[in-house]
Amino acid sequence: MSNRKTIICIGDGMADLPIDELDGRTPLQAAQTPRLDEWVRGGMSGLVRTVPDGQYPGSDVANMGILGYDPRIFHTGRAPIEAAAMDIETPAGRIAFRCNLVSVKNDRMHDFTSGHISTDDAGEVLRELSEAFRDRGIDFHTGVSYRHIALMSDDLLEAECTPPHDIPGKEIDPFLPQGEGSVLLRELMAESRDILARSDINRRRRADGNTPVTMMWLWGQGRTPELEPFRNRNGIGGGIVTAVDIIRGIGKLAGLETPVVPGATGFIDTDYEAKMSAALDILERDDFVYIHIEAPDEAGHMGDVNLKIRAIEDFDLKIVGPVLDYARGNPNSRVLVLPDHPTPCAVRTHTADRVPCAVFGEGILPDESTAYDEESARRGSLRFDAPWDLLDFLLNH
Ligand SMILES: [Zn+2]
Repeated sequence: MSNRKTIICIGDGMADLPIDELDGRTPLQAAQTPRLDEWVRGGMSGLVRTVPDGQYPGSDVANMGILGYDPRIFHTGRAPIEAAAMDIETPAGRIAFRCNLVSVKNDRMHDFTSGHISTDDAGEVLRELSEAFRDRGIDFHTGVSYRHIALMSDDLLEAECTPPHDIPGKEIDPFLPQGEGSVLLRELMAESRDILARSDINRRRRADGNTPVTMMWLWGQGRTPELEPFRNRNGIGGGIVTAVDIIRGIGKLAGLETPVVPGATGFIDTDYEAKMSAALDILERDDFVYIHIEAPDEAGHMGDVNLKIRAIEDFDLKIVGPVLDYARGNPNSRVLVLPDHPTPCAVRTHTADRVPCAVFGEGILPDESTAYDEESARRGSLRFDAPWDLLDFLLNH
C-alpha cells in the first residue's frame, strides 16, 4: 500500500485581531474564503499554539515547530538557517551571523535595507569590508540585497544582538551588542562605519540619489541546527515550496527538497500557479509537501488591511482551492491549513497568539465548525498546545 499523501498550506501571518474599519471583524472574517470554509465544513478545525512560551514569534521559530522540531532545542539563531538556504558550510568552531548593510543617520537606524541596495552594490561593499577586515576572523558571504552572512568564531555565540528591523528610526546605541563577546562585535561594527564613510561606492550611491550604506550590523547568530531528517522522523519525505530563504533553509536542514520556483516572489504578485504545480510535482514522486505563502504576512507588516484581505482571498482561490481538489481526488490524502503566527495589521509585527488550523481528508470526520477564522476556531474540536502535536495528529491520527 502506498503512503498517504500529506499537504500543509501555510498562509504566513494570516491571523489577525478584530479591526474597527472592518466593523470589528478580522481580515480572515472579512475576506471571501469559500474554499477555506468548505475545507472546515468537511473537516476538523480548532486552535494551535505555534510559538512556545518565551520564544520570539519569528517565522523561522514557528515553521520549525510546525514541521515538528522544537525550536527550544533546535533554534539557536536565524542566521544559520539562512546560511543553510545559501548552501554555506559552517566549519567547526564557527557560527553564522546575519550581516545587514544598514544606513545610520544622526546615530539613528535610518534604513535597515540601505534603500533596498542592489546585490551588485552590496557585493562591492562586502568586498571592501572583507579587505579592510582581513585577519579579523570574518568570512563574508554575499546574499541578496541588504541581507548577508558573516561566519565568525563561536566565542561570540552568547552575545545579545538586536535585529535592525526592530529599531527603525531609533538611536542605535542602546541596541548595539551586549554581553559576552560584545566588545569585539561593537568594535567591528564601529570600524565598519569609518571604512564605509570613505567608500567610493557610497560617493557614487549618493550622486545617484541612492541611500548610502553606512554600517554593517551583525545579529541573529547561531550554530547550525542538526535536524533529524523529516523522512526518518516521520516515515514520509517530500519538499517545501516557498519564496522565502529562511523557510527554504529549514527545509534543507530537514532533508526536504526545496525547489526554487521561478516567479515565486514572496509577495502579492507571486506566481501561485507555479508554486502549486511545483507542489503537485513533488507529490508525484513523494508523499509530503509544505506550501508556504508569504503575502498575507507582508500585508500585515505594512498595516494594509485591504491588501491583507486580497492576499487571503488569493490564497483561498489559488492555493486552498487546488489543494482541496487534490484531497477530494485522492482519497488517500490528508491536508492541513494554518498561518505560522498572526501578523496583526494594527501591530505590524508577529505575535505569539494561537492560530486557527483545519484538517481535511482521509479518516477525518467533520466537526461542527463551518468557517475558517480566529473566532470560529475557538468553537472547533481541535486544541494543540504545541505545533508538533498538530503534526502528529495530521500524520498519525
Ligand atoms: Zn511567518
